[in-house]
Amino acid sequence: MSSETATHSKPHALPEWPPLLSLAYQRELTDLAADWAMSHGLVYRPPANPPSEPHPSTSRVIHAPFTLFPSPLPRTLYELGRKLQPLYNALYARVALDVPWLEKTMGAVAKVDDFQLQLCKIWRQVREEGITQVQLGLWRSDYLVHTLPDGAFTLRQVEFNCISSSLGALASRTSKMHRYLQSATGYYGVHPLLDARNLPENGALQGLAAGIAEAHKAYGVPNATVLFLVQSHERNAFDQRWLEYDLLEKYGVRVERVTFSDLVASASLSESKQLLYSSPLASEPLEISVMYMRAGYTPDDYPDEKAWEVRLLVERSKAIKCPTVGAQLAGAKKVQQALMEEGVLESFMLDSSRGAEKFTEADLALLRASFAPMYPLDATTLQQTIDHADHLVLKPQREGGGNNVYRSNIPSFLEKLPVAERDAWVVMELIEPPPSRSVLIKAGTSEQGGTEGDVISELGVYGVCLYRKDSEGTCVIDVNRECGYLVRTKGRESNEGGVAVGFSYLDSLVLV
Ligand code: ADP
Ligand code: MG
Ligand code: MG
Repeated sequence: MSSETATHSKPHALPEWPPLLSLAYQRELTDLAADWAMSHGLVYRPPANPPSEPHPSTSRVIHAPFTLFPSPLPRTLYELGRKLQPLYNALYARVALDVPWLEKTMGAVAKVDDFQLQLCKIWRQVREEGITQVQLGLWRSDYLVHTLPDGAFTLRQVEFNCISSSLGALASRTSKMHRYLQSATGYYGVHPLLDARNLPENGALQGLAAGIAEAHKAYGVPNATVLFLVQSHERNAFDQRWLEYDLLEKYGVRVERVTFSDLVASASLSESKQLLYSSPLASEPLEISVMYMRAGYTPDDYPDEKAWEVRLLVERSKAIKCPTVGAQLAGAKKVQQALMEEGVLESFMLDSSRGAEKFTEADLALLRASFAPMYPLDATTLQQTIDHADHLVLKPQREGGGNNVYRSNIPSFLEKLPVAERDAWVVMELIEPPPSRSVLIKAGTSEQGGTEGDVISELGVYGVCLYRKDSEGTCVIDVNRECGYLVRTKGRESNEGGVAVGFSYLDSLVLV
């Protein structure tokens, strides 16, 4: 394949979408889809209804918001996303292990961002103790479709997630749901593209579980337990449960779900730095092989000093962390921006002292072509940021949605932002995907996305990476795979993309 065809699709329009259905057919499809979703665990806990219910109910579910049709994506771009993933995995493994570079990049942020400072402190302390362990990356690279000046489509990266890359299991369920609608109804023959051959299988659930199982095996104690660190009152619990069931059924690996406060009460280190957890279900403390974190990415997860102390305890242990604090830092938006600076990507990917895998100029070009322009926020970029605000988004070093500042909100935000805090932010050009439409279903009713049904679909590609430092300090990668995808679709007027917070709808792909 020439690099021309590898990085973008030939200029062509996406199909008219979604296909027109009679209202009766649409209702029928919606009912079938909602029942399938609830029968197959494509579900969330319902939002709490304060003040009568302080927390989401644990005895009721609602189906996840979803699209009635899969969304069209050029086949070349799907292949591009899959091809990029092992490159991104290798890049981020090398970044996570490069102490001087990460110190330089995140040290400046930590001076003005308390959350990053806490992370850095743990990272520094554990480095001094010199524990080296295999690290598990369950990562997700997110993209939007971008139109090049010649009209061709390509993928541009929104962000790279190194902690709590969620929705893999529900994304796999959503792909299956669309395949079910296709096989059960043929979508009433409304569109020739809605053919099973165009709906790619989605192995995200199995792939992510396999990654945890491989890390567990690498730890080397077969009857050890995997911990899932979760937020209390998590609405997206079933996305996590599916991973747990896959680990148990396919690999015989036991999982315990714990919160930060469970760890504070019941986690300890043995003399040989085993992570031990006293579970109410076990008579002896459990030895932990893998700590899979679906919490810990936001300051709210650390309500007090004790939560930070227990994060340090976990980090000091020889349990395999997904992620380590170093990898969590590597997932910062500041790192994404710094990777774009001159010579940086070359150094990580082409310098042979970095690791045994050989990457080429063509690999580098693929990565670079997926970058959307980003730059630091400082005195030299302030005015251009204000002048071009309509095409920009400002991002702090946070995860989980709801933290960015968009377009016309930027100038007034910058006016109030203390100069010293600028280092905590990066500026990114907005990616503006081509027009598309969808039918969005929430709790059994359909609404056209936005006032005109205009939507944006964000593609995520999951990756599994097991990596470590050898005795010379070089990055060794034992497992490096792409493993399935996520599509989230939202009304074009909604800036943010969280599914659980109600902005976006789970979706899958129809390749065109
Ligand atoms: P988070 O880590 O909170 O998910 P993101 O960088 O993914 O932060 O931003 C949240 C959402 O904002 C994305 O899902 C996307 O909808 C939108 N967004 C972020 N960056 C861009 C961009 N460069 N162009 C267009 N939309 C963006
Ligand atoms: Mg995101
Ligand atoms: Mg993120």
